[in-house]
Amino acid sequence: MAKNKRRIHLSLPHMSGREQKYIEQAFATNWIAPIGPHVDAFEQEMAACVGTKGAVAVTSGTAAIHLALRLLDVGRGDRVFCSSFTFVASANPIIYQGAEPVFIDSEPETWNMSPQALEKALLDSKRAGKLPKAVIVVHLYGQSAKMDEIMNICDHYGVPIIEDAAESLGSAYKGKASGTLGRFGIYSFNGNKIITTSGGGMLVSNDEVALRKARFFATQAKDPAPYYQHSELGYNYRMSNLLAGVGRAQLEVLEDRVKARREIFRRYEAELGDLPEISFMPELEQTYSNRWLSAFTLEENTGITVQEILYSLEQENIEARFVWKPLHLQPLFKGTDYYAHDKDHHVAESIFKRGICIPSGSNMTVEQQMRVIDVIRAVFGKESSVVL
Ligand SMILES: *Cc1c(COP(=O)(O)O)cnc(C)c1O
Repeated sequence: MAKNKRRIHLSLPHMSGREQKYIEQAFATNWIAPIGPHVDAFEQEMAACVGTKGAVAVTSGTAAIHLALRLLDVGRGDRVFCSSFTFVASANPIIYQGAEPVFIDSEPETWNMSPQALEKALLDSKRAGKLPKAVIVVHLYGQSAKMDEIMNICDHYGVPIIEDAAESLGSAYKGKASGTLGRFGIYSFNGNKIITTSGGGMLVSNDEVALRKARFFATQAKDPAPYYQHSELGYNYRMSNLLAGVGRAQLEVLEDRVKARREIFRRYEAELGDLPEISFMPELEQTYSNRWLSAFTLEENTGITVQEILYSLEQENIEARFVWKPLHLQPLFKGTDYYAHDKDHHVAESIFKRGICIPSGSNMTVEQQMRVIDVIRAVFGKESSVVL
């Protein structure tokens, strides 16, 4: 029976319909290249949207992180601190640069980087005479990390911050756009993100000199010579003009997409909030989350596991997922240094064991959402609270 029900996905692309117009313009002018007027316009519109002096459109969020590390001169033997509770793409570019990641645990109020763990890690590094070259702070599922605390600590030690805002475009921290508080911020336009170009990313900063250098690195680092000459290592990371056209149309509806995701979260909270067995991901005061993915944790000793809920949802053809597995637990990063929030409180590990992400796409219907809600209520032996 369930197989007859249309699949509900975690997060699908949501086109506005205006993308085609921009793509047609690119065709009409034959700008089918990793440069062009849509790329320039998308960068300007993006910078205006988040409030930075500039932006560089690239092929992925991962590429944007890689460029930020390169701009901060991260190289072999250097250390880079990174949130542990995140997708592997946050840390992979550290390895691309031959540097060594050190993972920092989360704190319970935002699920993001623990200022307390960060401070301990920096103090230890200072004592060892090996401060990190950068700190990568992730804003998980749209929720901003405790940036005031994190920036104070990093400023004290003189370490620059890269904000991995791949999941938090449209979110704000104390009135400022998520991704604009550190030296560099990065966004992702992968297919599952809040807006998409099918694949793409953006590097933002107020350092225009650095952004010019990013464009240079992203186009194979060509020297200003009459022939092909290269003095530095570059990459092929520039966004295609076609995809930038898609991005422009998507950016126009970003606000609507954020509102829709927040409304989805609000409905989950209203319909499931009475279940004592679960707690939704918090939203820190003075922050505004885009609620990219709605997530909740099971209380300890509920007798129900994340896997059981995933199984029940799958039976009804509904996609849900575990939250990110912390990077310090990944086989890839075995043996890497890691700093816990507290020696008896490993926050990311604890959330990982009890956390689940449920369908949150901005194109989900109320009816589809009620299907998800009914299944979850049934797992806990509760009738649906609303009859459709
Ligand atoms: C999606 C994502 C990335 C990577 O973005 P891509 O565009 O897929 O390369 C990086 N960090 C986080 C936290 C992400 O969710």
